[in-house]
Amino acid sequence: KNPNGTYTVTLIEGDGIGPEIADAVKDIYAAAEVPIEWEPVDVTPLLIDGKTTLPQPAVDSVNRNKVALKGPLATPVGKGHTSMNLTLRRTFNLFANVRPCKSIVGYETPYENVDTVLIRENTEGEYSGIEHTIVPGVVQSIKLITKPASEKVIRYAFEYAKSVGKPHVLVVHKASIMKLSDGLFVNTAKEVAKEYPDVSLDFELLDNTSLKLTADPNQYKNIVMVMPNLYGDIMSDLSSGLIGGLGLTPSGNMGNVVSIFEAVHGSAPDIAGKGLANPTALLLSSCMMLRHMSLNNYADKIEGAVLKTIASGPENRTGDLKGTASTKHFASQVIANL
Ligand code: NAD
Repeated sequence: KNPNGTYTVTLIEGDGIGPEIADAVKDIYAAAEVPIEWEPVDVTPLLIDGKTTLPQPAVDSVNRNKVALKGPLATPVGKGHTSMNLTLRRTFNLFANVRPCKSIVGYETPYENVDTVLIRENTEGEYSGIEHTIVPGVVQSIKLITKPASEKVIRYAFEYAKSVGKPHVLVVHKASIMKLSDGLFVNTAKEVAKEYPDVSLDFELLDNTSLKLTADPNQYKNIVMVMPNLYGDIMSDLSSGLIGGLGLTPSGNMGNVVSIFEAVHGSAPDIAGKGLANPTALLLSSCMMLRHMSLNNYADKIEGAVLKTIASGPENRTGDLKGTASTKHFASQVIANL
């Protein structure tokens, strides 16, 4: 907190549609008089000794402010630098990725009343980045699961379950096949559960969860799901699909000291620069951030205005929600609804 009562938050606008949706957030925050001063930083990757590294001013800013809001960052496929998303998560040890997914009243999808929470292990598993060529035509990619990282994310899931009044943790895994790696994750959950007698613990195989979640997401209403990295990545996009797409779902990357809040979607190169992007996911991520900072009143005010705008009809919705509004028009309607 600054002496004048405001808070400084690091802002990573990101690539593609990032600057357009970040502008919407800044305009809406100014109109809502949120006591936040944005500190924009550049995270264009640096290659130092063959390793992808964050520019030092960005690292210093995040360490100083402890909280950041981040737009999407583009990652080249199959070549070039390591994902900057991975680099950020590793640099600040953001071990848990929290992804709530809630139906938006007034925006109809094949599913009603979806209300799921998924917590993804964020630092290892299939995304450890340990890959090598054994001989040409044969590559090996190592899935790393450690007890400390599993314990951290599972404990976070139990604490989260308690704090949101959903006292039921579900571990999603594939220990039937990956007996050692996913087995360690499962066994760690059994151990951690002993510390939380008021929270129940269940296990489910990933393929079964995929089937049940798409057949009837209501079954997962009062549950907090926790799972290894790759499964969480896929299942969270699947959950977004249930409520109308990636333009709607927020997320928080939580560490011991630093937290970075970001939209689940990518840089949307197909619509970048056209003023068509939906800023809702970044706005709802920023509301998670405000609650994390105990600025709940501002979060409620902005979230309420966003949901009211989406429900008000296709003329006020962006194209991804079958509407005709530009990013700027949507933002101006949110401001009018504050
Ligand atoms: P994407 O999420 O960028 O786009 C998928 C589809 O969803 C596109 O049709 C896009 O137009 C649409 N979409 C996404 N966000 C939207 C929004 N806010 N409003 C309206 N429509 C939206 O996924 P992709 O095309 O697979 O990836 C593009 C780039 O983004 C890649 O370089 C990828 O690595 C990167 N990416 C970054 C993150 C992140 O920073 N967290 C996450 C996923 C992908």
